[in-house]
Amino acid sequence: MHELCARALNGEDPFSLPYSEDNGLEELDAVCLYVETIQKDGAARGRLFVEQRLDLSAVYPGCFGTADAILYLPEERLLRVYDFKYGRGVHVAAEDNAQLLYYALGAAITLGLPLARVENVIVQPRCKSKSGAVRRWGVSTIVLLNFWERVVTAARRTADPAAELLPGRHCFFCPGKQICPAHLKSAQEKAKWEFGDL
Ligand code: SF4
Repeated sequence: MHELCARALNGEDPFSLPYSEDNGLEELDAVCLYVETIQKDGAARGRLFVEQRLDLSAVYPGCFGTADAILYLPEERLLRVYDFKYGRGVHVAAEDNAQLLYYALGAAITLGLPLARVENVIVQPRCKSKSGAVRRWGVSTIVLLNFWERVVTAARRTADPAAELLPGRHCFFCPGKQICPAHLKSAQEKAKWEFGDL
């Protein structure tokens, strides 16, 4: 789906893309929502970067990322960072979204853009919460500077063999969850709570 979104954003007709046979209409709707959102946000008058690789090694060695889309509007010095989520099971908020702040920081460094404001935009077509399928959160660049510090602190902790393990919903995406003692303990506690009577 990310590849289809990128192709549509790069100018291919969304109706001509190779969707799946059983879910093609839903996929087409999702791609159209994503592309229309970015177009309405001013893609024609700004600089658009699609699947942009970002280098954050200035923040911490080895840090990098790839943003789904970045739109820079020079007149407002506004950077919009987009993330497409096709999943429906986990609602993703734009507010204080670390993934998007990370991309925004990477864009500011890699692309050398003068910024006044940053906006996180989550497009999650199949997860329509009260706040809708397109969710936004705008901040000043001061927040990015503070976030820089958060990245450095967190990145340093990954190098510590005794770093604390903090289980939570994010474990769902962790490749280490099968062997993580904190995740196992948390799962056992939940099971005890749910099946206590048995
Ligand atoms: S499974 Fe363990 S290592 Fe992975 S995110 Fe959860 S607590 Fe951290």
